[in-house]
Amino acid sequence: MVEIVRVRSKQSFLGLVEGFLNGGYALYLTVLTLTQKKEFSCDHCGVTIKAASPDDIYTVFTKEKGEGAIERKIKCVNTKCEKENIRYWSKAPMAPVWKYEE
Ligand SMILES: [Zn+2]
Repeated sequence: MVEIVRVRSKQSFLGLVEGFLNGGYALYLTVLTLTQKKEFSCDHCGVTIKAASPDDIYTVFTKEKGEGAIERKIKCVNTKCEKENIRYWSKAPMAPVWKYEE
């Protein structure tokens, strides 16, 4: 049986682990990074703008369009500017994989 469970809090994680282990299951742990936040300067007025990645896979933030990148039009937060800035989110290179077996 393979079941994928997404957990974000330490408390619920520990409860789940204990429950599965008591039930005689082997567990595999996959670690994912959460949504990334990046800061950049508005192309038009230079004000600092914060951008959030669409998910935990597309986490590389660039001004130039990369292969398979997701385009975002980000409106400037400066009320005197409010112009659009085009930026791109690309997939991060494969994360390192650790293998640990007891
Ligand atoms: Zn601006």
